Amino acid sequence: MKDCIFCKIIKGKIPAKKIIEMTNVIAFEDANPSADTHILVVPKRHIETFMDINKEDNEVLVQMLRISQDLIKSEKLEKKYKLVINGGEYQFVPHLHWHLLGGEMKKEAK
Ligand code: AMP
Ligand code: ZN
Repeated sequence: MKDCIFCKIIKGKIPAKKIIEMTNVIAFEDANPSADTHILVVPKRHIETFMDINKEDNEVLVQMLRISQDLIKSEKLEKKYKLVINGGEYQFVPHLHWHLLGGEMKKEAK
């Protein structure tokens, strides 16, 4: 999608601190971290919200789960992590993503 900031990151048009990538999914650091570790796990296909996930996205979802497990392991977050999906008024970027938060949460994080 043309004006989507995460689509631009996926296409390499704007920079991001990429951590890991699979065929259908990319993970990069959140620009404004709410925790010691704050990674966004993002499907490459422009799915707008959690509620827009459909049957064709099964492989995408599996990759999002696998990448998250790999990151929890590689970043040593097993003892303290959260996976968060925001929706409705809590979602600011209209391209599906989940937040992998690990370690201590910053005070201002909700
Ligand atoms: P939300 O849509 O509420 O789930 O949150 C969007 C998240 O994307 C926020 O945590 C932002 O800090 C993060 N974010 C927005 N723009 C960028 C960007 N260009 N690079 C990395 N993270 C971003
Ligand atoms: Zn997008």
